[in-house]
Amino acid sequence: MRDRLRELKRRGLPWLLAAPPYLLALYLLRAGDRDGWPFLLASAAGVLAFACALADFVSARRGGVRVPPADPLLIWGGVVAMELHAAFLPIAGTRIVPAALCYVLGYRLPPLASIPFAGGAAAWLAGMTPRTGGRIGEFASIGALAVLAFAAGFIVRRSDLRRAPDMIRARETIARSRSLVLPWEEPRSGGGPSPAAATEETVLLRRERELADGIQRALEGLLPMTGAEHVAYLSQSPTPGSSRYDGILASRRPGAPREFSVPDTYVPVREAVVFRRPFIETGPEALRYAPWTMGAEGRVTGIAAVPVFREDAVEGVLLAVREEEGGWADSVPALIEFVARFIGRDIERIRAAHHGERYLLREDWYHRMVRKMAQVGGAEDGEPEESLPLRRQRVYAEAVGQVRRQAGASRVLLIGTDDAGKTGWIAWEETGSPGGGSEQPETLGESYVGWVIRTGSQRIFSDTIGTSRSQGVLPSAWRKGEERSFLLFPVAGVGEFRGAVVCTHGEAKRFDRHHAEIVRDITEVMQLGLSHVERLEALTKRAATDGLTGLTNRKTFLDALGGELARLDGRHPCAVVMMDIDHFKRINDTHGHPFGDEVLRRVASVLGKAVRKGDAVGRYGGEEFILYLHLADPDKAREGAERFRRMIRQTKFLHEGREVAVTASFGISCAPQHGTASGDLLKRADEALYLSKQRGRDRVTVYPG
Ligand code: GH3
Ligand code: MG
Ligand code: MG
Repeated sequence: MRDRLRELKRRGLPWLLAAPPYLLALYLLRAGDRDGWPFLLASAAGVLAFACALADFVSARRGGVRVPPADPLLIWGGVVAMELHAAFLPIAGTRIVPAALCYVLGYRLPPLASIPFAGGAAAWLAGMTPRTGGRIGEFASIGALAVLAFAAGFIVRRSDLRRAPDMIRARETIARSRSLVLPWEEPRSGGGPSPAAATEETVLLRRERELADGIQRALEGLLPMTGAEHVAYLSQSPTPGSSRYDGILASRRPGAPREFSVPDTYVPVREAVVFRRPFIETGPEALRYAPWTMGAEGRVTGIAAVPVFREDAVEGVLLAVREEEGGWADSVPALIEFVARFIGRDIERIRAAHHGERYLLREDWYHRMVRKMAQVGGAEDGEPEESLPLRRQRVYAEAVGQVRRQAGASRVLLIGTDDAGKTGWIAWEETGSPGGGSEQPETLGESYVGWVIRTGSQRIFSDTIGTSRSQGVLPSAWRKGEERSFLLFPVAGVGEFRGAVVCTHGEAKRFDRHHAEIVRDITEVMQLGLSHVERLEALTKRAATDGLTGLTNRKTFLDALGGELARLDGRHPCAVVMMDIDHFKRINDTHGHPFGDEVLRRVASVLGKAVRKGDAVGRYGGEEFILYLHLADPDKAREGAERFRRMIRQTKFLHEGREVAVTASFGISCAPQHGTASGDLLKRADEALYLSKQRGRDRVTVYPG
């Protein structure tokens, strides 16, 4: 509200609004005596108002406003002139004051409208002169003149711009710049990239090109209409940290460049951007504001800069430069403003369209990725047997490939780390050819990627070559010489993946925060995929192990045993050992089931630690265990089983402070001597175990006994 009031005051509106009541009061007061005190009072008020408007004008100009409001000055100046006209009869007789006023008002109008108007007004005035009558007639004639002048001015200057032929031409030009108006269309067949290949980058680029082409065409249309030698659209340079205005230039001079740039301290641009109003200058003043150092062929005679608004923000500036003699035509500022409005609307439209496209595009690949991740993690892709590490890698590959495509990176690394974030390994890397990972751990140390992981903050580096940063972004083993841009994004998961995504590129400036957003979205889906895999891992593990002891369960053990025996195919020796705890029923009965469970856990743990690498142990059922001894002939197998037996016997089982003796019996069968099929070996080992029990327990028997 306050801003609005300030804006109204800036435009001199209070002074303009004060004029009509004043004029009304003047008429009412003066209805009686022309020489009385009301007359003097009214004159004084008019002069005072003029003085105030003048002071306002001067102070605005001193305060740096290059184009202060002139309308109040004109109106109150007219009032004062009319006072003079009324006060001195000889002047009033000539009617020179209202005539001059009409011309001044006519001058303020666009030329085409002002010529007939000024001519008509003069003729009308001349026709009135002989019939000088009473005061009422005089007031009526002058008042009518003033009203006519204002009405004409108001209609032509403020109303629908279509009436001005210049504006009609402007519309035609804009209509011709079709790409500004028509939506971008997908090529029907062949040609441009397919929707699948369209990334946010390519879509944005296309939109930007479309906008630039549209603006270029609008500028080219503006050239002949304004009589300018050059017109440009300038907007703040997108380069981070730059304080320049870059733009598109259209010029009548052959060979002029299409692009053009000025510093943001350049006065016309500053006026338009900071004070948000047109800057118009002609003559020698204009030369001072020439946007470039003039060659011999150019001589700037006029500058016009108009802000381009999108909603309430200044998007850029339309700049016109005149080199011909004579100032700008009166219609030029309005014309440029009109085109500026149009460009503002178009920027808005294209931006909205791009947002829509980006949304759809993201939506599309996001959904496809989520579906793929769910498949990788679930059993529904028809390969339930696919190994879990392989599934994990497929999730990495999908995420890293997607990052590479969407962010337009030349290389993407997925770095995994330990909990402290001190060392890391490449979980997946992609440079275009099929990617892969490496288990080789590297110390992250003081590198930025380590810092990003530890602090959980993202970092973008541009143009790192030759700076100290070029060394510090990645540990040296992962560096590649030609890379200049980096995007580092932390990946933190609760119990899932922890580490970072690193995008690199050889271009000096490649990544911005939009890319970081894309990486964030993708890593979120990746975590989803990994949690699927992890859940599957947990399920598989639970299905394969025995809940009480944590050993492999019977089914899984027998499956593995079958596979292993088939692999050995009788060419190498191995042994199957069955083990049964002695008098376990008694242990249970005497000390209770919970203690029995405890005994089972301890025995399992003893066996787990006792077996060598390559051997395997499982819980066969109840208090029976089964072992597979790799490359063990009967002697070695007996030796091994004796060792297990002694270990169990020597283990201290305490119940309520009292030691409980636990022993076990063993039965062994060997491949290939006793068979090569798991069924045969199991049966024979069981028979040997039976013999051990029969012979007094706590002993080892090798088949056939
Ligand atoms: P033997 O020396 O002849 O093997 O005698 P035993 O008492 O061990 O004989 P048997 O095999 O008949 O007894 C097995 C007992 O083990 C029966 C059952 O109550 C107990 N048992 C089986 N599974 C569990 C278990 O998971 N926890 C506990 N506490 N006891 C179990
Ligand atoms: Mg038993
Ligand atoms: Mg038993």
